[in-house]
Amino acid sequence: MNDLISRLETLKSERDAVVLAHYYVDGSVQDAADYVGDSYYLSTIAKNSPHQTILFCGVKFMAESAKILSPEKTVVMPDTMADCPMAHMVSPEYVNNIRESYSDLTVVCYINSTTEIKAVSDVCVTSSNAKKIISATSTKNILFIPDRNLGSYLQGFFPEKNFILPKGCCPVHSDLTTEDLLSIKQNDPETLVLTHPECEPEIVGLSDFVGSTSEIIDFPAHSKANNYIIYTEHGVAHILKQKYPDKTFLFPSPIPVCKDMKLITLEKAVRSLETMASPIEVPESLRKAAQQALIRMHELAG
Ligand code: SF4
Repeated sequence: MNDLISRLETLKSERDAVVLAHYYVDGSVQDAADYVGDSYYLSTIAKNSPHQTILFCGVKFMAESAKILSPEKTVVMPDTMADCPMAHMVSPEYVNNIRESYSDLTVVCYINSTTEIKAVSDVCVTSSNAKKIISATSTKNILFIPDRNLGSYLQGFFPEKNFILPKGCCPVHSDLTTEDLLSIKQNDPETLVLTHPECEPEIVGLSDFVGSTSEIIDFPAHSKANNYIIYTEHGVAHILKQKYPDKTFLFPSPIPVCKDMKLITLEKAVRSLETMASPIEVPESLRKAAQQALIRMHELAG
């Protein structure tokens, strides 16, 4: 492990590279990264990075977003097969059809979308900035894509708007059930339930706190509770244990694991900086169209 980390450090200076890692990748990769965060944080770091190379340890839409915002940089991934299935659950044709049906419409795409979807959207959001961005929209109709669960959660904050929601969802979060939550609450009502809004509404409704990955990670810092059950991807256990060694974090079963995020390993991270193989490429016309939605997100999110 130490050999891999020191090899990564050498390659970082040779390639003028910064290493970004999402909270859902393996802990060893998080430990080796320069920056660890959620989608919005990493997107901001990538946009402002002075380095010529970005090694993005996450799934494909994240690396593509970095390339869209910084076309002059080289963006590589440890494994380009790491892709978010939810990002492919709506098509540009679907978006264009809805546009034809509503004159007063904003197309809001979750950052977990393909470049093609970002290119036909008005603005991107992440789970940490979606409320702020939707509150800045002036239209009555909001097409929120692709996550129906996040969309339905957000809809609750905007009763004056009409949300149009497709059927997309995160297979990892939407598979979780209330079973563990109910039995843990019955045995220890003091245990707090912290939930990502990609989970089904039934779980969201029974939770003590609903927030983005970063907000879930920050929550115990301001809470007296010692025990938590975490309804999001298990990769966050790594930082939760580091930040709060005296608190207990349980996860529902089966343990929520994103197999795409887990394709990212330290060995592959080192290899990708060694070979610089398969850099992320986005055709220029598509990139320019997709860039608008990402730039608008950064402007509105501040
Ligand atoms: S956890 Fe869900 S939303 Fe996140 S990358 Fe995996 S499949 Fe996509």
